Amino acid sequence: TDDLFKNVISHAKEYGFVFQSSEIYDGLSAVYDYGQNGSELKNNIKTYWWKAMVQMNENIVGIDSAIFMHPTIWKASGHVDGFSDPMIDNKDSKKRYRADQLIEDKIEDYWNKAFSDLDDYFKRNEITFSSTEEIDLNFVKENFRNPEAGQTIVDIHSTNFSENVKRAYLFIADDINAKNALELFKSFTDALISEDLSKLRDIIIEQNIKCPVSGTANWTDVRQFNLMFSTQVGAIADESETIYLRPETAQGIFVNYLNVQKSGRMKIPFGIAQIGKAFRNEVIARQFIIRMREFEQMEMQFFVRPGTQREWFDKWKQTRLNWHLALGTAPEKYRYHEHTKLAHYADAAFDIEYNFPFGFKEVEGIHSRTDFDLSQHEKFSRKKMQYFDPEVDPETGKPYGNYIPYVIETSIGLDRMFLLTLINAYEEEDLSTEEKQDSRTVLRLHPALAPVKAAIFPLTKKDGLPEKAREIMDKLKLNFNLQYEEKDAIGKRYRRQDAIGTPFCITVDHQSLEDNTVTIRHRDTMAQERVNADDLDRIIGDLVSW
Ligand code: ATP
Repeated sequence: TDDLFKNVISHAKEYGFVFQSSEIYDGLSAVYDYGQNGSELKNNIKTYWWKAMVQMNENIVGIDSAIFMHPTIWKASGHVDGFSDPMIDNKDSKKRYRADQLIEDKIEDYWNKAFSDLDDYFKRNEITFSSTEEIDLNFVKENFRNPEAGQTIVDIHSTNFSENVKRAYLFIADDINAKNALELFKSFTDALISEDLSKLRDIIIEQNIKCPVSGTANWTDVRQFNLMFSTQVGAIADESETIYLRPETAQGIFVNYLNVQKSGRMKIPFGIAQIGKAFRNEVIARQFIIRMREFEQMEMQFFVRPGTQREWFDKWKQTRLNWHLALGTAPEKYRYHEHTKLAHYADAAFDIEYNFPFGFKEVEGIHSRTDFDLSQHEKFSRKKMQYFDPEVDPETGKPYGNYIPYVIETSIGLDRMFLLTLINAYEEEDLSTEEKQDSRTVLRLHPALAPVKAAIFPLTKKDGLPEKAREIMDKLKLNFNLQYEEKDAIGKRYRRQDAIGTPFCITVDHQSLEDNTVTIRHRDTMAQERVNADDLDRIIGDLVSW
């Protein structure tokens, strides 16, 4: 799977999807450029989202707010004080790490070692299980599912196996105060049993447990590092003129919600959608375009009457997963992840995760944010953020009247969705027959997402075929993004189009000059058929439109 990921990254570069930013200057870390095919694919993903959210919903409208905003907005939103990552510096190597990721790596290391020790132990003692998973789980259950923390420690000490498993528990034992030891052991054990590394990581960060690496290297303590980029407005470098590049698009929606509501005569429940860039000074960049410093978000804030948020939250949670699945992705590639540790203002939060080659990773978040953001803006701006709801409450017989709406938010990272789409579509297909070895790399993209919808090939460069091909192309190019290619053998041209996911290749040959027919070759099946050139518009349109 490591190889798969590497192959996708190099494919993305080779075929003009994604380039490292400023590559000729050795690149700029965690910043990427989208190439000729990448920007088409990205635009198509945006279109799919915009149509599904704005065009298909009468009560959702879209906006495009500025990246620069009044600095007080980020005080009100909590970003100035709270938008930070825990960070550790290695004093020896002078390298900086995100504490949570470092810990996650170390935990993974730890448990891998621990489980391989266990394997050895079981082998030595000739204990057999039907599967490896069972070994890990049974061991853990037997030894650590003890609600009494004290007892657990005794168990750990008295157990003969796995030094590593023991140490992992003991490093917690060393660091926690007695008061929450019991609770911590319980949740740690639960996380362990469900093999939920991110939960283990959360526990460790939250409890400020010293990471087991602290003994092996010269680390600073964990410090908080604000993720917002700042810059100066105007010519004077004065502290009061410091503004930030927005770290999320949501605030542009919150501060405009009454403008939109009034000018659009929107009635609750209604939504505002936005696609735009966001910037975060991520401490550590990793996994290609999963974590970038400049990225794009597609967010929608849905304003509802207080008390109805749970119902809307459930609806959006399902609707958003359906949006992903409608692209034809296998449902088992997705899962929900419920946040158990909620931000103080949130009353529910779920992530939609996709199984990337490096494991399940958040692609989208659905959050129930209560009236936190709007109330904060009311407090900081001293402008009323209330909505007047004329609808009659059946219980009181009176209008619901003035209130600050509650907000359900759906927030998806466009770049993560792009990577997901690329990985999910990528296939190295073996086409070997008994006679000869053959293979192709094909992107099985949903046709509506494909950067190029059809490629037009004259069979040869002479006899008027290029002219005929151009004539066909001119009729189609207003509706579809097309590519014209006359170089190399047809087989080679097919392969190049497969590699960028083009659903149709259209070949113009001598017969075309006589009866206006062409061959159309389908990407997925590689089947070919002969059709009238006048039908192409419909044939392509049927497959590539939503
Ligand atoms: P993570 O925990 O992975 O940093 P997050 O919880 O901070 O993500 P949100 O603030 O909820 O993310 O942002 C919503 C979406 O924006 C995420 O689901 C993700 O797809 C995307 N996103 C967030 N940070 C980045 C980034 N640095 N690069 C690319 N996409 C990002």
